Amino acid sequence: CGIVGFVGREDGDVALDVVMEGLARLEYRGYDSAGVALVCEDEVEVRKRAGKLANLTAEIEAHPLPASRTAIGHTRWATHGGPTDANAHPHRGGTNGKFALIHNGIIENFHALKSELADAGVEFASETDTEVVAQLLAQTYAGDLTKAMRDVVARLEGAFTLLAVHADQPGVVVGARRNSPLVVGLGDGANYLGSDVAAFIGYTRNALELEQDQIVTITPDSVEVIGFDGTPAQGKTFEVTWDAAA
Ligand code: GLU
Repeated sequence: CGIVGFVGREDGDVALDVVMEGLARLEYRGYDSAGVALVCEDEVEVRKRAGKLANLTAEIEAHPLPASRTAIGHTRWATHGGPTDANAHPHRGGTNGKFALIHNGIIENFHALKSELADAGVEFASETDTEVVAQLLAQTYAGDLTKAMRDVVARLEGAFTLLAVHADQPGVVVGARRNSPLVVGLGDGANYLGSDVAAFIGYTRNALELEQDQIVTITPDSVEVIGFDGTPAQGKTFEVTWDAAA
């Protein structure tokens, strides 16, 4: 039920701290599981747990995460598959551990997509509609995460906010939205994504509103928005007031 993304310039603890703080600020929306993914050397590290954020914190203390500059975090409100560790997000696609995806919303046509992937030999690690998107993205990825996201959202029906990271593109987070919220936070040498401005209000008040059916690619120094059809778009900047964040 909550989504946070962050990318900064230097490897360290900041990426994880920003995402965990963002998830804590989104707790008021309710959730049954939580998880994070960090882009590290050659792979993406995932920690996730059913239950409260404290369970995720304990899991990270038991299995510490390496320094990183790119992170995504998720709180889940289960719709497809019970609230278990395996069904918690992030979900990986493929088998090389290079990829992770988080999702708020529902993929209406996930059954059809899942049988298509299963017929092609894909094995699933969860019961979620979300993992279908992760597996599709992993199959579609050919070096450009934004392009892969564009090709995949063209096949999805339903409501979704999606964020994805890939180990071969450290310093990049790609987001997409349809009938589900996603806001960009504009920082100095860092950029943020949130399902709600509360996700990054502790760090920046400068934000960018996305329209429906748009994809955003953030790096520490750039924010690029395109429509699902690939047309470049601007987005509208605004300043978050403390009232909006309360
Ligand atoms: N439909 C997805 C799931 O059940 C995402 C739910 C959510 O919005 O948190 O895992």
